[in-house]
Order: sequence, then structure tokens, then C-alpha cells
Amino acid sequence: MDMRSNNQYIVSERKKEPLPVPPGAKKIHDRIHKLLVVLSGSNVHSCLEPEFKRTWNTILDLIDRYQQEIASAAQLAMSCAGGCTACCCHWVEDVNSFEAEIIADYIRRRFPDKISEIAARCRNDDNRLRSLNEIVETKINALNPRGSKDALDPVDLLLASFYQLRILCPLLEQGLCIAYPVRPLTCRMYVSFSDPSRCSPDFINAEDIPTYLFDLDEQADSIIDSLHFKFLKFENDTGLRSLLVKYLS
Ligand code: SF4
Ligand code: SF4
Repeated sequence: MDMRSNNQYIVSERKKEPLPVPPGAKKIHDRIHKLLVVLSGSNVHSCLEPEFKRTWNTILDLIDRYQQEIASAAQLAMSCAGGCTACCCHWVEDVNSFEAEIIADYIRRRFPDKISEIAARCRNDDNRLRSLNEIVETKINALNPRGSKDALDPVDLLLASFYQLRILCPLLEQGLCIAYPVRPLTCRMYVSFSDPSRCSPDFINAEDIPTYLFDLDEQADSIIDSLHFKFLKFENDTGLRSLLVKYLS
């Protein structure tokens, strides 16, 4: 399923005011942008070529620093860190093609004995999402008999319902993300400044949890989109689990 959404720029999920971007963070963003331009202009044929992976890893490190700069200028302490997994029962969506391929490659190289187990967990969850989707669509059609889906967004409802099932991400092993260094942007971009336990599905509707979407600007996003299409192998699929089933097979 392709559920890609329009990205935004450092906005709060719960408050109205976006966080300011200090000069130090702007400089880091400029470096990210330059490296994305390099990636986009390079003539590599695969995102698994060392040159591509090396530059992408540098971009990921810079994104971490960019987020830290913005948070520290706002005198906020990020709660997100390796080993923090209360949010890891989302259906991870909006994953770029090259990110999924790099994650699958990482699993193959570092955890070869886990490949079939992880692929099976991903397949199982993908089947559960499909079953849930049928229920959601049936319910929405019943509530909107004339085909108007304005009242309820089926994708939002589907993802929120999956989250409430509390199915842990297949990449969690003993409470740790085994792909943490190469985890997708979508896992990195939502940042919380509150007690991590409040990221659990119990608090999905709470209004007092400061959560921010720390996204890159539109130009950077658009280059990432172009890289997604350059390395696209599976049309209409941007789910981490559904893509890993394919890349790990
Ligand atoms: S969003 Fe919440 S649970 Fe997820 S890493 Fe950040 S603090 Fe931890
Ligand atoms: S890929 Fe890693 S960080 Fe993202 S949801 Fe899965 S376990 Fe959590």
C-alpha cells in the first residue's frame, strides 16, 4: 500500500508554533542539502553501492545533529534515543525504496541467521494490516453509503487501528532496534520531549505531549523523493514490513 503523505517542516504535532531553526542548524541543513544533490547527481546504479551508502549514512548522522541543534536552541531535551521503543508498534509507513533496500542489506550482512524469522514476522504483520484494512473499508463504506469518505480518513483510521493492536516492529530484538543506525527517516522524524512511556498507544489522543515532526525543507524532501523513484523496485509500496518481505525474500 502506498500511503505517502506531504511532509512539513519542524512543526509541532500538538502545538501551533513551529520551533525556530537556529543558524547552526541551518548550516547543517545546507550540508545535508549539498550531499543530497551529490547523491542525486551520482551515476550509481544501485543504492547498495558503497559510495551511495556512505553518503547516505553521513546524511543520517547530520540529520541527528540537525535535530539536536534545534532542540537545544529551544532548550528542549529530546527523549528519543537508542533502546527507546514505546513508539515501535506503529505500522512504519512512508519508507523510501532505497531506505528499505539498505535496511534489508544491513540485516543480511549483520544478522544472516535472523533473515527468515524477520521476513516471517513482516509477512504476518502485513497480512494483519490487510485484514484490518478490509474491516476499516467495510466500516467506512457502511458509515458513508454514498461513497463520501470526507468524514473519516481511511488511511488514518487504518494506521491508528494497527497502532492500537500493539504489534511490535519486527526489527525489535530484546527491546532494541537491530537496524537502528539505518532506521528509516520516518522513525527519526517524530521526536518527543516527554516521558517515553507517553508515546505508547494509550496516549494516542493526549493533547499535552510535546511531539514534533523534525522534517527537512521542501527542496531536500523533493530530492529524497527523486531518489525514492530512481531506486524504486516495488510500485505502490512504502510500508517497512511489506517492503522487507520483498527485499528479504
Ligand atoms: S517517539 Fe517516544 S518512544 Fe519513540 S523514540 Fe522518541 S521518546 Fe522514545
Ligand atoms: S525500524 Fe527500528 S526504530 Fe523504526 S519502528 Fe522498527 S524498531 Fe522502531
